[in-house]
Amino acid sequence: MLFRPLFDQDTWTYTYLIADEFTQEAVLVDPVLEQVERDLKLMNELGLTLKFCLETHIHADHITGTGKLHDLTGCESAVPENAHATCANRFLKDREVLQVGGIEIEAIATPGHTDSHYAYLVNSDRVLTGDALLIRGCGRTDFQSGDAGTLYDSVTQRLFILPDETLVYPAHDYRGHSVSTIGEEKRWNPRFAGRTRAGFIELMGKLNLPDPKKMMEAVPANELCGKVLATALR
Ligand code: FE
Repeated sequence: MLFRPLFDQDTWTYTYLIADEFTQEAVLVDPVLEQVERDLKLMNELGLTLKFCLETHIHADHITGTGKLHDLTGCESAVPENAHATCANRFLKDREVLQVGGIEIEAIATPGHTDSHYAYLVNSDRVLTGDALLIRGCGRTDFQSGDAGTLYDSVTQRLFILPDETLVYPAHDYRGHSVSTIGEEKRWNPRFAGRTRAGFIELMGKLNLPDPKKMMEAVPANELCGKVLATALR
């Protein structure tokens, strides 16, 4: 399996390129509109065909590259089944497995950051945690139908039950990290380690974070797979 984390410095976002080197089929998880050229160039150089763009959730901090990539490559877009995205080709159910060549990508419903958030377990040994679980942190829960209690349940009951050695690849990092493990996060993530559900809800209620700078444009654009602004920017 080819597995490449790609970073957008402007929004601190990780996009993941995952491909079967034998069938040359690829999937991009959480592509960023401004990085579409970078991603296409890399896939061209590696001789890959983009089959799917997969979203962990409808983002508030960046515009997805999915609409533009669909137009340029004909790839399908896949999102969680209850995501408010009218443009998607495929709506994945909880525990549904997406097959990309010989690679198995299992959807794990992990709501709380948003009400339709999924993590994706890749070939059983690494999990793309989106904004549900970040390295030593987690996504905020104060907008987009977020709910702190729901996020606590998702992380502790659906992600922390994975084997300790499972690699954790988040959708963002703000402190220079790129990978962790489930065991490490269970022990050292300050949002969850030794914290009760009630304690987590109290902590998340006191964060008082400013809105993401692109929120007003990003959410409505992403509900259309980023197509509104993709057209305007092209
Ligand atoms: Fe997010």
